[in-house]
Amino acid sequence: METVLVVGAGQSGFGVATSLRDKGFDGRVVLIGDEPGLPYQRPPLSKGYLAGTAGDAQLRLRPEDFFAEKNIELIPGRVASVDRDGAKVVLEDGSAHEYDHLVLATGSVNRVLPVPGSTLDGVFTLRTKDEADVLRAALESAENVVVVGGGFIGLEFAAHAGRPVTIVEVQDRLMARVATPEVSAYFAALHEGAGHTILLGKGVAALRGEGRVTEVELSDGSLLPADLVLVGVGVEPRTRLAEEAGLAVANGVVVDEHLRTSDPKISAVGDCANFPCVQAGTATRLESVQNAVDQARAAAAAIAGEPAPYDSLPWFWTDQLGAKLQIAGILTGAEKTVVTGDREGGKFSVLSFRDGVLAGVESVNRPPDHIAARRLFAADPAPRFETLEANGFDLKATFA
Ligand code: FAD
Repeated sequence: METVLVVGAGQSGFGVATSLRDKGFDGRVVLIGDEPGLPYQRPPLSKGYLAGTAGDAQLRLRPEDFFAEKNIELIPGRVASVDRDGAKVVLEDGSAHEYDHLVLATGSVNRVLPVPGSTLDGVFTLRTKDEADVLRAALESAENVVVVGGGFIGLEFAAHAGRPVTIVEVQDRLMARVATPEVSAYFAALHEGAGHTILLGKGVAALRGEGRVTEVELSDGSLLPADLVLVGVGVEPRTRLAEEAGLAVANGVVVDEHLRTSDPKISAVGDCANFPCVQAGTATRLESVQNAVDQARAAAAAIAGEPAPYDSLPWFWTDQLGAKLQIAGILTGAEKTVVTGDREGGKFSVLSFRDGVLAGVESVNRPPDHIAARRLFAADPAPRFETLEANGFDLKATFA
């Protein structure tokens, strides 16, 4: 294998490039990215970077000389198409680059709110450093801030915005897609305690204003004054290149357990990949640093001739208002939950069971529980409800 070409210089693209070198791959490694500057990580954008406590240096995944040292070629530009017959990609500027193996690490794009007024000035999404810079500046003069979407991005934005905001969520609780009701309730109280207003079960009908947003119209007809609206209503995988190249696509680029697409010369990793998830028992797309980093490592191993089925445990974290939530495992389909620890004191974990087996653990300000949970999940098989019950639902004691 001579040239591995990676499209997308984000968390997973960067991970593939560095993991190839870690594996001793000595061919060309080319990383093509359409964002300005060096590869960077996104999590601080809605946390310290937004609040002004983290700067560019904290965002950067590695300094410039690292790429020269590792002989990773960085090419700025956007890939316009993949020519599978010719084994090359063509950039928007017309230049072509050949590959022996191609990795699609194109990530995802923020979903646009499908209502009138969603492109008015003062309406923002948050995914890139450029967006964070504009948003940070806009926050300085904003008076009425409305967050549409009570998921991780919206809530982290609210937590780090430095002023009371109104959070509008169409579901009947916060973080409904990814957290248990116990955890949703805890974070709702935390945000209300910080002065935020939470409106649950309310959709947005329109964003109103002449050129610039001045009001948010809710589905019940009520109006909220707004001069800054942050829309955090989820993402869509960036699959256009794969689709146009005729690869299998279904809620992401479809890959096998080695992160290979329907073309064995092309892999896909990170937010854009729909992979067979062992823990979920079904094909899944995950949007997390863990998923991006671990899939990058697994894809690189397969390319370097050391394939091993991808089975890493999904885990995630979010920081809001001094509380750290860490989630290990997959909560979907869980039928039973147990709360352990000090709920009132804000240090607790929620254990979720599916078919009587531990499926997910959410830890709020309990990092040792999170570590123990990850170790427990690494054990084969994962513990049953009765085993944990016998140990008073103490994760550390169960692992020991
Ligand atoms: P990305 O990092 O998005 O990288 C994809 C790159 O490909 C982008 O630079 C894109 O511009 C580029 N690209 C796309 N198409 C082309 C093309 N045709 N040509 C060239 N380049 C292209 N996860 C956590 O686990 N914890 C957190 O606390 C957390 N916080 C987050 C906060 C924010 C604000 C955001 C946006 C995400 C957060 N995430 C968090 C999620 C995590 O950052 C993503 O899951 C991760 O970045 C996915 O990596 P990726 O490489 O798949 O995609």
